[in-house]
Amino acid sequence: MTRKDYEAIEYALYSRYNSYPNPSVQLGVVYGVACDIAFELEKTNKAFDREHFLAIVRGERELNSKPNRKHELIITCFHDAMAECSCGKWTYVYPGLRTRAQIEEHFKMHTRQGKTGAN
Ligand SMILES: [Zn+2]
Repeated sequence: MTRKDYEAIEYALYSRYNSYPNPSVQLGVVYGVACDIAFELEKTNKAFDREHFLAIVRGERELNSKPNRKHELIITCFHDAMAECSCGKWTYVYPGLRTRAQIEEHFKMHTRQGKTGAN
């Protein structure tokens, strides 16, 4: 998908989400769908920022705003595993062999914490 495709999804969800009073059942349903879509997009695009996407849906960020920082996994070594995130707030060191999948599992915990950026 292109950036325009993501923006189209964001716009559709944002428009629908903001057409209901808060609180309301409909609002909750729309937000649930937004979370489901974000979850699926995250699977196919490592650079996808779920928290930013949902902030746009809630109207807390501008529709065409960019995420504050991208989280991209950089693996520097598999033997005595070493990896880091492009945001600069996460590093991973393991004294022994790790597979990409094992490193990605740890990396996912970092990207899910989003705003704090802590380990
Ligand atoms: Zn990061």
